[in-house]
Amino acid sequence: MGKIQAGIIPVTPFQQNCTILFDGESKEGVVVDPGGDVATIVQVVQENGLTLKEIWLTHGHIDHAGGADELREVLHIPVIGPHEADRPLLENLELQAKRFGVEMAVRNVVPDRWLNEGDTVSFGNHVFEIFHCPGHAPGHVIYVNREQAFAHLGDVLFNSSIGRTDLPGGDHATLLASIRDKVLPLGDEMGFICGHGPGSRIGDERRNNPFLKGL
Ligand SMILES: [Zn+2]
Ligand SMILES: [Zn+2]
Repeated sequence: MGKIQAGIIPVTPFQQNCTILFDGESKEGVVVDPGGDVATIVQVVQENGLTLKEIWLTHGHIDHAGGADELREVLHIPVIGPHEADRPLLENLELQAKRFGVEMAVRNVVPDRWLNEGDTVSFGNHVFEIFHCPGHAPGHVIYVNREQAFAHLGDVLFNSSIGRTDLPGGDHATLLASIRDKVLPLGDEMGFICGHGPGSRIGDERRNNPFLKGL
């Protein structure tokens, strides 16, 4: 087994970081948050000779989950996550798109498996722990691989910012508690990819992110 490699494909008008995680040797992996532009995702997978095993979702917003049902159909692989608290969001993705007024192909989706705090998911030998981190969305989960100090944090924590909390089910105090109790304890050396913009390290955010002052 090789190192975990990550390829980012910005998708949807929201420029969401659809992320392909794969093993550098076996070329097997998963896709995290295929929000849309499914044809592009499939093209990247084929051009790079990758085999995707599962679709992992961090939460139920359109830019993250809008293409999951279509990609499941095209690749014949299951949709895993998020926490079931996001079921109402995922069952109304088409409505979300209308509310945002965005022109994009969106389908409602019901995952094949919901995730809970403490669950694990994997591809090859790479195991990821699940942490339930509500606040940006009620069912938001993050995916953590301790062995290679790598995490996908979705829209919980960004490079120099945090997730917005003005959408249905969002709550600022809850988000800060998730960051304080679940994300920061992962340790300063933990590197991460997030849902929008460049990734970072937990330690850099703990020291420099203005939204984390006082946590
Ligand atoms: Zn979101
Ligand atoms: Zn997002």
